[in-house]
Amino acid sequence: PNALLLYCRPGFEPDLAAEILDKAARLGEPGAPRFERGEGSVRFELAGERPANALHRELPLTSLVFARQSLVALPPLALDREDRLSAIVAQVRDSGWSFESVWQETPDTNEAKALAGLIKALRRPLESSLRKCGALRRKAGGRRLHLLWSDGDRVQLGMSFPGNRSDLPGGIRRLRFPHDAPSRSTLKLEEAWHEFVPREQWEARLAEGMQAADLGAAPGGWTWQLVHRGMQVFAIDNGPMDRKLMATGLVEHLREDGFVWAPPGRLDWLVCDIVDKPARVIAMVERWLIRRWCREAVFNLKLPMKRRWEAVAEGLARLDEALAEAGIPAEIGCRHLYHDREEVTVHVRLLC
Ligand code: SAM
Repeated sequence: PNALLLYCRPGFEPDLAAEILDKAARLGEPGAPRFERGEGSVRFELAGERPANALHRELPLTSLVFARQSLVALPPLALDREDRLSAIVAQVRDSGWSFESVWQETPDTNEAKALAGLIKALRRPLESSLRKCGALRRKAGGRRLHLLWSDGDRVQLGMSFPGNRSDLPGGIRRLRFPHDAPSRSTLKLEEAWHEFVPREQWEARLAEGMQAADLGAAPGGWTWQLVHRGMQVFAIDNGPMDRKLMATGLVEHLREDGFVWAPPGRLDWLVCDIVDKPARVIAMVERWLIRRWCREAVFNLKLPMKRRWEAVAEGLARLDEALAEAGIPAEIGCRHLYHDREEVTVHVRLLC
């Protein structure tokens, strides 16, 4: 196999393609991204015959912004609708692959939902054939075979590896909307925590009694998440905050400019969901981090522009340089989350 198969939000294929082209080139792995707009995936075909496994390892999923899932892929299959199974099993057999489980997936589009019946009908015969030929077995290093269906006769096969994949179907983290949260945005912050803070560290890093600032807080979806963890919150916004949230007594609402406001002392968390230019948001966060006004930050970069990858890359490079110049060691992560639309979420954690 000499291709990667990466999933993304439909419509963001050009951004993922630009990102992967850029990052692979920097690693000395030229190749060509192939995609159809709206299909929710990008195939990156490496130049030459070098297997894609090395690139797959060198570009961990967590280091990619626009990818929801990352697989080592076999060539796309065009199937005979009368006998889909044979070609799939033959391709697996020829690849020599073995794996412990099989996931059938579709792009995150409405049209693809129509394929659910086909996928269900195929499951048992597919697994039984793959077991018979020894490809699907009990011990195979946790590897998983993925079938990405884009139509009833078009499928791409890929392999995922433990430690470098999303363990969620389609790479999508579906979260339940907390019924008393004041806005749907609340799920963006919750998803960010799942993405950037390992579950076993929540008690320590998202702890009761911590202090946080929420810039652009109204009506309070993100503040709700902080309060839900038992934190005290400075909610900065000219707009009105949810009354029930204010009644918790944990929120101080200040009608100030989030780009100018300075906290009364050092806090634990800074979160910011203000709609503004990425460069302006980055400059503000930089100031917070360099003065150590917070230990961790989660903020969105809004991306109404055409060349989204370039805007993200520029912003992250700038933040990275500024922190390095100030001698502040930090961990920076950036992902296009499921609950993000025309925006990405950045997480920064100071390391000392
Ligand atoms: N995260 C919020 C939630 O979950 O409910 C939604 C935030 S909304 C997308 C953006 C907010 O930023 C608006 O309420 C707006 O009033 C506020 N805002 C815009 N510019 C601001 C500024 N300079 N300082 C503070 N707030 C600002």
